[in-house]
Amino acid sequence: MNSFTFQNPTKLIFGEGQIEALKNELPVYGKKVLLVYGGGSIKRNGVYDDVMRVLEEIGAEVHELPGVEPNPRVTTAEKGAAICKEQGIDIVLAVGGGSVIDCSKLIASAAKYDGDAWDLVTRKAIPEEALPIGTVLTIAATGSEMNAGSVITNEETQEKYGWGGPQNFPKFSILDPAYTKSVPKDQTVYGIVDMMSHIFEQYFNNAVNTPVQDEMCEGVLRAIIRTAPELMEDPENTELRGTIMFAGTIALNKFLEMGYRGDWGTHNIEHAVSAIYDIPHAGGLAILFPEWMKYNIRKGTRPERFAQLAVNVFGVDPEGKTTEETALEGVGRLRSFWSSIGAPERLADYGIDDKNISLMAEKSSPGAPLGQFAGLEKDEIEAVLQNSL
Ligand code: NAP
Ligand code: FE
Repeated sequence: MNSFTFQNPTKLIFGEGQIEALKNELPVYGKKVLLVYGGGSIKRNGVYDDVMRVLEEIGAEVHELPGVEPNPRVTTAEKGAAICKEQGIDIVLAVGGGSVIDCSKLIASAAKYDGDAWDLVTRKAIPEEALPIGTVLTIAATGSEMNAGSVITNEETQEKYGWGGPQNFPKFSILDPAYTKSVPKDQTVYGIVDMMSHIFEQYFNNAVNTPVQDEMCEGVLRAIIRTAPELMEDPENTELRGTIMFAGTIALNKFLEMGYRGDWGTHNIEHAVSAIYDIPHAGGLAILFPEWMKYNIRKGTRPERFAQLAVNVFGVDPEGKTTEETALEGVGRLRSFWSSIGAPERLADYGIDDKNISLMAEKSSPGAPLGQFAGLEKDEIEAVLQNSL
């Protein structure tokens, strides 16, 4: 493994009823709060009322930014940053999923920056400081609650990019699995696909001798694969919701990525697809990831790595099979597993055809090979997209 430094400063507060912890955590940063949320799920499931009750108890001055879109827009973050500047906000409180949290991260940095918020996403400017943010997570998926990443869409330029920096780590994140019981079936599936994809992105790396990391990745994947079908049968089960919620956080708080750098190419391809077609992030991943895997196995990009996944996670018996056959059987089992819980299989399921393949390939990795592990050239990204139609 490579040398590394690991630091994750987010205070993780997990469990039923943990919203009460907001009473202690929030006042550390001040009284003026920008409460950021999405399209209204928190008003329907009671989370908004819980949060407002606590904010009232501690005498917070609350300003609100509702309406953050799934695939959050830079324009929405700019609105939030303007409120922060006008009102002298002390802390941004994100109540929602990855979209609300990612948007809040950009709000917090843009509030301390005088230019366009998009400059921060495109790395034209590096944020020097940011307002503190806290989160109350309502859907298990992205890990944004305990990482420094943020993914933002610019509708005007049809671009969607990830950006981040140490200032983006939430100061605290409250994870109450009961808050995720109202997540509908399709979004529950997307969350499971997203967190598994995060682990795959890390698992496919070029480091040698990472047995501890491999076991951690494989173990979390097995726990998700075991739990997901039970959860689909019993969506009100708080214990099962809790397992999946914890898995989503562990999958992308960089705990699994110590000592190497993952690939992340499939995420970039997906961002290019959803920048143009505005499809759910993990809907795209469920389609693209198996095709990215098959492409690399057939090309001969370390097929033994894919075979290891097939055997250790998907229970493929390698006896009498070539490495490539074992690896491909693992991908087949992944495809079947995702289909069995209701994930989409083809880009055509979203009405996407071959019209923009070249454009999407270009946006996936402008001018450079894509991914630390696979290093795909533009024509190869096009092939993955073509195979996904
Ligand atoms: P999301 O986009 O935040 O939310 C998806 C949908 O679920 C929304 O319609 C939301 O409704 C609803 N929802 C959330 N909580 C709910 C609840 N408790 N009950 C009922 N409905 C609920 O989903 P996400 O998967 O967490 O985030 C996706 C975004 O994160 C994408 O833009 C993706 O690119 C990005 N991402 C970020 C990272 C990272 O590390 N930062 C990693 C991967 C992906 P409301 O809007 O009404 O609340
Ligand atoms: Fe993701």
